[in-house]
Amino acid sequence: MTTIFDTYESAVRSYCRAFPAVFHRASGAELFDQSGRRYIDLFAGAGTLNYGHNNPLIKRRLIDYLRDDGIIHGLDLYTTAKREFLETFESVILRPRQLHYKIQFPGPTGTNAVEAAMKLARKFTGRNGVVAFTNGYHGMTAGALAATGNSYHRRISAGLLNGVNFAPYDGYFGAEVDTVSYLRKLIEDASSGLDKPAAVLLETVQGEGGVNVASFQWLREVESLCREHGILLIVDDIQAGCGRTGTFFSFKPAGITPDIVTLSKSIGAYGLPMSLVLMKPELDCWEPGEHNGTFRGNNLAFVAATEAIRIYWSNNTLSLAIQHKAHVLRRRLRELCDEFPDGVLSVRGRGLFVGMACETCPQAARLISAEAFRNGVILETCGARDQVVKFLPPLIIEENMLEEALDIVVQCTRTVMHRLVKIPSADTPTPFDQEIQL
Ligand SMILES: *Cc1c(COP(=O)(O)O)cnc(C)c1O
Repeated sequence: MTTIFDTYESAVRSYCRAFPAVFHRASGAELFDQSGRRYIDLFAGAGTLNYGHNNPLIKRRLIDYLRDDGIIHGLDLYTTAKREFLETFESVILRPRQLHYKIQFPGPTGTNAVEAAMKLARKFTGRNGVVAFTNGYHGMTAGALAATGNSYHRRISAGLLNGVNFAPYDGYFGAEVDTVSYLRKLIEDASSGLDKPAAVLLETVQGEGGVNVASFQWLREVESLCREHGILLIVDDIQAGCGRTGTFFSFKPAGITPDIVTLSKSIGAYGLPMSLVLMKPELDCWEPGEHNGTFRGNNLAFVAATEAIRIYWSNNTLSLAIQHKAHVLRRRLRELCDEFPDGVLSVRGRGLFVGMACETCPQAARLISAEAFRNGVILETCGARDQVVKFLPPLIIEENMLEEALDIVVQCTRTVMHRLVKIPSADTPTPFDQEIQL
């Protein structure tokens, strides 16, 4: 059934190894394989399908646009689809939030946006260095990869990954250690070995790195540090943005205003490739074509994006629904964690961006994901040791389907944990001495 893939598709393929079905159709939060078997999707294309698979409201607009021979590819030519996107993004997203940004359309992937953002910061400041954070993930092309922590991804290109220094993210040493003070000291001490960087690049919630959540206070302190020293603050909102944490921009509730923001994944609304760099107007020092690309401006994605923004962000209905479903998700997972000895499983996240961490027993996360897949739920893992089960349901998932998926996840977690962990009794004081390998 998967022979053609095994034979011809490069060994680099990855997600299909964890979820080895041959998928055929999808709708909302449901995926169906070629035999018609149903899966509830709590992964949503790593946060690309916030509005669900084949969202019928967006689909209608796309079909109309295709039928009318709307422009699909136009390099960066002016098109009506691009105009409508810009007007809608300005009037529905930026203006009500009092944000003033110019918009750059780089190539259509997230890593393109990060490349452009880092390059712009370097050009504008005339400085080369960028500070990124432990467990950060920013993409796979050399510039963005330089800012990605994971050594598995970095190692082949190690010799090319220059110009980035890593600082500890919020909570890296536990809640007690103030990691902004550490960064401040490095930046302010002319003898620290860290030259003043062009930019600080961060995710407000680290997606691939393990659903690590920065506190609002930490984000504000990083912003102040940047302001005091003329360093640009770049927020990579590719995974945490577009409503994932409950607000359109994940940084907004922290009260910070980044100099540059990258968006991708769900900005294309329908799983269509698209990415954006938002920059404060005074930073726009690009010369024409200085950062170029054939697939800048995917007009079909503009159409989908415009429609999604109109439907879902013109009022706060979606935001409220996200908060409500986030509450349901967190409550169910907390109850689940409480079934096990203290600290074995823990929940963290913001909005519908949630992780269940198995820090003392990292292999549990992969096993829970595999067991959930066998039982019809798609759930990915993340974190340096793949120790975190990641919950990224489509934001539009119906509550009863979310509950249905959670019933399965609860059952699967119990199955895995009871196999792995010896539940404590009077004569086993340290439950984790008894880990059983499957
Ligand atoms: C996915 C992701 C990227 C890279 O996007 P691609 O489209 O895969 O290149 C960059 N930053 C963050 C935070 C991401 O989640």
